[in-house]
Amino acid sequence: MKRKINNSLMGTATLAIVTTLLLTVAVCYHLLKNQIWEDLEVYAETMGFFLQTTDEEKLQGNHEEFERKMVENHIRVTYIDTDGSVIYDTMADASKMENHKDRPEVVSAFGMGVGKKIRMSDTLEQNTYYYALLMENGMVVRVSRDADSVYRIMEYAFPAILLVTVFLFAACGLLSYFLSESIIHPIKEIAKDVEKVNEIESYEEMQPFIEAIKNQHDDVLGNARMRQEFTANVSHELKTPLTAISGYAELIENGMVSEEKEVQRFGREIHKNANRLLTLINDVIRLSELDDNETDDMLEPIHLWDSAQTCVDMLQINAAKHSVNLKLEGEDAAIMANKQMVEEVFYNLIDNAIRYNRENGTVTVNVRNQSDKAVLTVTDTGIGIPKEHQERIFERFYRVDKGRSKSTGGTGLGLAIVKHILIKLNADISLESEVGKGTKIEVTFKEIIKDEYSETEVS
Ligand code: ATP
Ligand code: MG
Repeated sequence: MKRKINNSLMGTATLAIVTTLLLTVAVCYHLLKNQIWEDLEVYAETMGFFLQTTDEEKLQGNHEEFERKMVENHIRVTYIDTDGSVIYDTMADASKMENHKDRPEVVSAFGMGVGKKIRMSDTLEQNTYYYALLMENGMVVRVSRDADSVYRIMEYAFPAILLVTVFLFAACGLLSYFLSESIIHPIKEIAKDVEKVNEIESYEEMQPFIEAIKNQHDDVLGNARMRQEFTANVSHELKTPLTAISGYAELIENGMVSEEKEVQRFGREIHKNANRLLTLINDVIRLSELDDNETDDMLEPIHLWDSAQTCVDMLQINAAKHSVNLKLEGEDAAIMANKQMVEEVFYNLIDNAIRYNRENGTVTVNVRNQSDKAVLTVTDTGIGIPKEHQERIFERFYRVDKGRSKSTGGTGLGLAIVKHILIKLNADISLESEVGKGTKIEVTFKEIIKDEYSETEVS
């Protein structure tokens, strides 16, 4: 990344330098050329005017003066006759000069009144600018001067360009270093210590990334804590029945139990506690199965009425034992779900409604269709759940009244399993409860099957 930033900055700098250089040279050269032409034009006009109004002798007389002035200004003046022969030149002996009739600038001047021509010297370093002007007497006055060629201008500019280049490259290097450092800094910090993700200072664009890392980190910590708590809870829950079993068994072993009645009582206790252990272990296994997202649970069309009926039938004896009146009402509703899961949910909810009820209380199970959704409600006339516990009863091992739950054989995992299953089935659960009056739990299934399907026979 650092190299990428560095390279792109250097690339941009190089491009900028080259284009600026080329443009500057082009503009300078253009200006120089224009200036030279303008100068030469003025010279030529002045010379022409002067030469025309002067006769031959006067011209000869002023020769030295011209030469000195022109040479001083590096201007060469050539006076050409109508036939092309050179009459006079400030830098050479006119009589020894060849005929200038064919020189391009002279040809133009004779033809169009004005002729311009730039000739390059052999070394390419200098250009000679020729400006020829036709005078009223039919002769041509030509002024010329040498000027630096475009290459020469570049040569002059070269040290400055080099300096600027070095400076820019150094600036780019520094800039790219600090830029990439500041971009990468938060990432480095996170890599060094994820724990400190909350303290890392960063820039706006980095915020979503840091936020995501932060959340993930919190999730990982939260999960780790939850797992640890869960393990601790499971161990604790296992301990009580095992201690009881071990104690009773030891008493029998040591012959401390003599009467047959006592043996029976202890046997019953051992049996009860062993059952508790089994229920607990089954629930823990079920939870870990549900936690395992890999397993794909088969979805099938299900008649909720049938599932509710099955659970009500199974729990009818239980209800009678508690002197609770259990009834099912409503209509059928068909959904796509996993039958075992749905029955687990129903069973747990109805089981709670019976277990936390009062004598001669009622449990009403209701199944119905309600605007594109299938709804199950389990209403009881039981002890109710205090407000402050209502959120938490879905947590693992959470029990409002530890004693009551345990005495009835509860593990505190039932609703945790329910919640897990409902997430998998894409269903919602809501709760209304008043202490001493009762509880109403409502489950809303969204994966409903429309009429024509619900008519079909399903298992
Ligand atoms: P189990 O794992 O055998 O179901 P449990 O019934 O104690 O044990 P959950 O079903 O998860 O566990 O319920 C958690 C707690 O919520 C219960 O201990 C009880 O205090 C409270 N609770 C659940 N349903 C009701 C209800 N219908 N009326 C009153 N309290 C309830
Ligand atoms: Mg329960």
